[in-house]
Amino acid sequence: MMPEMKWTEQEEMMEDQYEVASQDQQHVMGTYARQPLHLVRGEGMYVYDADDIAYLDFTSGIAVSSLGHCHPALVNAVTTQANTLWHTSNLYLTTPQANLAAKLTEASGFDRVFFANSGAEANEAAIKLARRYSKKIYGAHKGEIITFTHAFHGRTIATVTATPQVKYQEGFGPLPSGFRYVEEFTLDAVKAAISAKTCAVMIEPIQGEGGVRPVPPEFLLALRQLCDMHGLLLIFDEVQTGAGRTGSWLAWQCVGVKPDILTMAKGLGGGLPIGAMMADAVIASVFTPGTHGSTFGGNPIAASAAVAVIDTIMAPGFLEQVRRRGQQLYGQLQDLALRFPDSVQEVRGMGLMWGVVLQGIDAGHVMNACREQGLLVLTAGGNTIRLLPPLIVSSTDIEKAISILGNVIKEAIG
Ligand SMILES: *Cc1c(COP(=O)(O)O)cnc(C)c1O
Repeated sequence: MMPEMKWTEQEEMMEDQYEVASQDQQHVMGTYARQPLHLVRGEGMYVYDADDIAYLDFTSGIAVSSLGHCHPALVNAVTTQANTLWHTSNLYLTTPQANLAAKLTEASGFDRVFFANSGAEANEAAIKLARRYSKKIYGAHKGEIITFTHAFHGRTIATVTATPQVKYQEGFGPLPSGFRYVEEFTLDAVKAAISAKTCAVMIEPIQGEGGVRPVPPEFLLALRQLCDMHGLLLIFDEVQTGAGRTGSWLAWQCVGVKPDILTMAKGLGGGLPIGAMMADAVIASVFTPGTHGSTFGGNPIAASAAVAVIDTIMAPGFLEQVRRRGQQLYGQLQDLALRFPDSVQEVRGMGLMWGVVLQGIDAGHVMNACREQGLLVLTAGGNTIRLLPPLIVSSTDIEKAISILGNVIKEAIG
């Protein structure tokens, strides 16, 4: 008699992985070009796949896991709240949301906040607030919003319309009216786009998805003055640059140009979905009961996570350390650029948000090769490798990442 066939543990694991991949492929809509990597857990700077292979995470899940994976402060805040109260809707007061509102507006320099669940939703709220305020102050004709080439403001119908890129808009018409696009960061180009209907200018202080393109601070300052002259609201989309990413809590604080309306999301919840849209009291006053809302916005668990994120990032010395690590990363990327002058065209960014613009080698190929060597990186518009490590990154982590990236570029050149 044949002994009963026993699956080895490894075979079972492979079977599981195959199952997950096939469930995903058959049943999840195909909007994502998934990388062949099945992640099962994370700790600090590392994520682990189903075979327990470690990957150094220089993506933070696209600027979200700002404190790395399973940070004790976050685990504690979320598990405590999970044992207390999950959800109430916004019909009632909750402690985490009120505490978060106080801490977030204080750290951000605004009077009031509206909570949403994502970046796109925070931007939707900004668009609605800007229009409602401008109509009230200047008349019903106001409503047009100016945005910029290479911008990314989200995937909802309004925010994708605010995102002047064919690859995001194609096939989704009719798109709403009320957006004007400007192709360059010059005052003349913006002036040419202003009409009697214009109510706001919306911009990312550093364009993230579009290729990590920092907007010159002089331009942001000029834009501020232009908006004041024309009675336009200046909206900063800090969904990617916010929550300490640039070495300040918000990019506006390091550039020194304060917008009228500011949006955040990604890093704010440290991995839980939350978005925020902030303004000062006079502008915020047009959002009266019933004008806008969200069922989940400012949910107690997400809000508890965000409180832990703010407490950690705003603790003395934390942002200083982000700036120090940012300088180190920039310096070492510059060294790579010197070592491979024909392949690395430019290194640009701020804090712990860097783009490495490549030429002659494909950013997608470099991303895949890095992954095969245990380093996760992102790409962004214009053949760019994008590095967004968790803000807790150490000097050794940076050295390791640079060494892998250097090897990969060297091999890619051949
Ligand atoms: C990611 C991003 C968004 C969209 O955020 P979602 O949470 O994906 O809706 C909007 N603006 C900027 C600048 C972003 O980086």
